[in-house]
Amino acid sequence: MIYASLKELSAALAARKISSVELTRRYLERIERLNPALNAFITVDAEKSLAAARDADTRIAAGKATPLTGIPLAQKDIFCAKGWRTTCGSKMLENFISPYDATVIVKLEQDAGMVSLGKVNMDEFAMGSSNETSYYGAVQNPWAHGSGETRVPGGSSGGSAAAVAAGLAPAASGTDTGGSIRQPAALCGLTGLKPTYGVVSRYGMIAFASSLDQAGPIAHSAEDCALLLTAMAGFDEKDSTSLERPQEDYARALGQSLKGLKIGLPQEFFGDGCDAEVMAAVQSAIEAYKNLGAEIVEVKLPNSHLSVPAYYVIAPAEASSNLSRFDGVRYGHRAAEYDDLNDLYRKSRAQGFGAEVKRRILIGAYVLSHGYYDAYYLQAQRIRRLIADDFAQAFKQCDVILGPTSPTTAFKQGEKAADPVQMYLSDIYTIAVNLAGLPGMSLPCGFDKQGLPIGLQLIGNYFDEARLLNIAHGYQQATDWHKRHPAGLD
Ligand code: GLN
Repeated sequence: MIYASLKELSAALAARKISSVELTRRYLERIERLNPALNAFITVDAEKSLAAARDADTRIAAGKATPLTGIPLAQKDIFCAKGWRTTCGSKMLENFISPYDATVIVKLEQDAGMVSLGKVNMDEFAMGSSNETSYYGAVQNPWAHGSGETRVPGGSSGGSAAAVAAGLAPAASGTDTGGSIRQPAALCGLTGLKPTYGVVSRYGMIAFASSLDQAGPIAHSAEDCALLLTAMAGFDEKDSTSLERPQEDYARALGQSLKGLKIGLPQEFFGDGCDAEVMAAVQSAIEAYKNLGAEIVEVKLPNSHLSVPAYYVIAPAEASSNLSRFDGVRYGHRAAEYDDLNDLYRKSRAQGFGAEVKRRILIGAYVLSHGYYDAYYLQAQRIRRLIADDFAQAFKQCDVILGPTSPTTAFKQGEKAADPVQMYLSDIYTIAVNLAGLPGMSLPCGFDKQGLPIGLQLIGNYFDEARLLNIAHGYQQATDWHKRHPAGLD
């Protein structure tokens, strides 16, 4: 039951084989038992979850259920949720109880009737690729559990991925600014989707880099992600960047044949810099797609090597502006002692933010400052346009782009923590997708010699989520990587 698909859970709830309260209890018990070792959850409130489960059971009994009603899930601690503590992984928001719900929370809890199991760990303000920047401590990758080594789950949605991989929740919400859904999904053997920018509302989602941030699901399969995205997506007048488009059923294409599908392989994703074992698994996935009737075409993304440098100008610039609201007066931690207003700002921010967040704020303020704006920020925006144009060219030749999600499998805790550039390179294949605003997925495609999962990335054209999910689903019908789970947790 712990690793059942959302469809199976939905059927069991509808047939009254299990109640939402019973199901929620099972996950809460597992959280209680395993979370001390994994540190995936920052906040759990069993009474609150069970009350929501009781409501879901009433709704099911009244015949008012959606396919997701009564199914528990873990919420990334970046989403404001009424009555829950919302920390964003930071000391700055250690005691913040949101007075309102993010649109994603409203859609999943109230509209779909899902049951939140709690708030899951993340890199501080979503800045990181290993979950090591969280004020609430690092998260252990469940695949390394019991191996004697501590490995990262990826980040910034590291708690989301670890919770789902360890069976503490059947699915989780995540956010992806430069790879934060896809990279942890890859490192934890899961399926994750970052939608087209503007498809999911950002209202109530604590902002990191507003032109890049996008929420999406992390689950065991493309089918589960399709159900979740259908519930999460939709126009929201409270978010000015939300796109006014008709409501979609993202599961509608599941099961369609992949015959004649044109898969583009960018040569830039198949060069140096990727682990041989990751590359071998990606190559086998290409063979599997050929067997399903897909055609392979070579494409070029000539500016993709500039994506990481451009991102590390644009994302910090936006972050420096977004995070200026945490001043200890209107929002966030306030220093206990200070001399005057400037001292209050200085001390509150110095105490409330961690090192990586401070680094980003400094870089952001620098690249936006007079005299440097043209040299850095403007240039980065030009590169961003070139990168989007490269994808537009590539999609003239193919339906979907395929490559690795991350150049390595889960690395050891501490391995990259002292070297920011090494850490930033974890997202070398994911960041261009955010800069272009395209949808991207990661799905499991094998394991390395140490038994650590490998992720395959699929990138679609704008608003092509339904087809992208089917392309992943077709592969998951032919393989069982997504059905493997870490050992030694029971
Ligand atoms: N790892 C990237 C960063 O540190 C991306 C994070 C994200 O997608 N939120 O900025």
